[in-house]
Amino acid sequence: MTITVLPHRDTAGLKAGQLFIDGEWASARDGSTWTHHHPATGEEVGEFAVASAADVDDAVAAAGKAFESWGRSTVTTRVSVLLKYAGLLRAHADELRALLALDNGVPLSFGNIYATSVTAAADVFTHHAGWVDKVGGTTLPPYQGGDHLAMTFREPIGVVGAILPWNAPFLLFAQKVAPALGAGCTVVLKASEYATFSVVRMVELLAEAGLPPGVLNLVTGPGDPAGERLITHPDVAKVSFTGSRAVGKRIVEASAGTLKRVSLELGGKSPALVFPDAPNVGLAAMTTMGAVTMGLSGQACVANTRALVHREVYDEFITAAQGMAAAVTYGDPFDPGVISSPLINERQLERVLGYIERGKSEGRLVTGGERLDGDYADGNFVAPTIFADVDNSATIAQEEIFGPVLTVVPFDSEEEAIALANDTEYGLGAGLFTGDTARAFRVARRLRAGTIGINGFQIEPHLPFGGFKQSGLGREGGRSAFEAFTEEKSVLMPLGEEMM
Ligand code: NAD
Repeated sequence: MTITVLPHRDTAGLKAGQLFIDGEWASARDGSTWTHHHPATGEEVGEFAVASAADVDDAVAAAGKAFESWGRSTVTTRVSVLLKYAGLLRAHADELRALLALDNGVPLSFGNIYATSVTAAADVFTHHAGWVDKVGGTTLPPYQGGDHLAMTFREPIGVVGAILPWNAPFLLFAQKVAPALGAGCTVVLKASEYATFSVVRMVELLAEAGLPPGVLNLVTGPGDPAGERLITHPDVAKVSFTGSRAVGKRIVEASAGTLKRVSLELGGKSPALVFPDAPNVGLAAMTTMGAVTMGLSGQACVANTRALVHREVYDEFITAAQGMAAAVTYGDPFDPGVISSPLINERQLERVLGYIERGKSEGRLVTGGERLDGDYADGNFVAPTIFADVDNSATIAQEEIFGPVLTVVPFDSEEEAIALANDTEYGLGAGLFTGDTARAFRVARRLRAGTIGINGFQIEPHLPFGGFKQSGLGREGGRSAFEAFTEEKSVLMPLGEEMM
């Protein structure tokens, strides 16, 4: 059996990707293009424009011009666009999922997992539409007494540069674009070069929802030059980024030039803490190993890739995790029996295989540890891999591998488990498995991470999501995420005739 995704290209309606600037679709000024190779098959899927710095300048100028009216648009205008768009997303969910499978090889069978689904993206738009008429200022009692008005206003921050990764573009598009537009900002969006076609379609639908020209502009292509120009452009007031820690640090550095506002959703090395009183150790193992292998094949920021397991249930955990690894299927993302995906590109494949080689001297290889060959040889497939008996200070327990690799570290006490869990530069998420409610909350409160799942985990559009420590700056979801696209302004006025 040779895997091919090409028959799905026409049915999915995939066409060459263009830039969207000031309401018009166009090629890059210098005509540059990128050919996308499918990660499961190596086939050429299609081409899209590579934006130059000059194209980004055009996009920022269009967003700047549109800000003059969108920034002062009515509540009704903004809410109706956001809600209409949420409806369009739901109506086009199947088409978008197919385009994403052609982009990043994530199987259709995974498209219904809530966090990465079109439904979640639509829900984020619905959620943020609700803030448009609720986020505002206050009137405060004056310290000076008498008739003084002391008021605050929240005003849109200006032009936002929003930069997406390739792994969950539906949700992350929504987490940035919905609050930005709802707050009255205009946007220059940069898609990842490894997930462009689905984002192009999302932008087409946004125009269909009635968004005026220039309010959202799309630039495509790799980080350099398009991303670099966006993060250094003097007229971009805020950069909202999801991606790797390395690029996040570069954005902080670049923002210093014009003191841009920055929000960052970065990587993680999240722990799963499995206590001996877990209601079902087998289920805890399958949930943990499932998140590292199913769907995105471990290329998920918040996957619990570091299992901390009490010695009493250690062997039981590893046996069940091994069972999960054996059940994972790979291949054509359009095959409903396929539940996992390839690594996104050859660079990532080499990186993951490098960590696996290193892991062989840092722990006990339980299963996996190799690239898949035979029918899978043209794709970037790596077998689900478990390393047991790893010291928490080992490279494979500290660095984000972003592949189907679980490291398992034993512990003896609750105190030790908490210390190991927090012994990381990251702090995006954590899972804990226990049947003791008091322990669940005691431990959850002490973990230095942004999102904690107790006996399970689910993204919710209205809950803040983001990282402690080097996993990021700021939060997406909820009121504070909406407010992060505004500036606060104080306005004062004495009501009587008096000198200040
Ligand atoms: P990446 O950092 O390589 O790329 C992300 C985006 O940044 C892409 O659009 C890329 O073109 C762009 N980019 C690259 N260099 C740039 C530069 N110099 N200036 C501006 N933009 C630049 O990340 P990726 O491989 O697409 O995604 C994987 C990473 O994203 C992982 O580390 C993962 O943990 C993280 N991630 C985090 C979250 C979260 O919510 N915390 C969600 C998904 C992914």
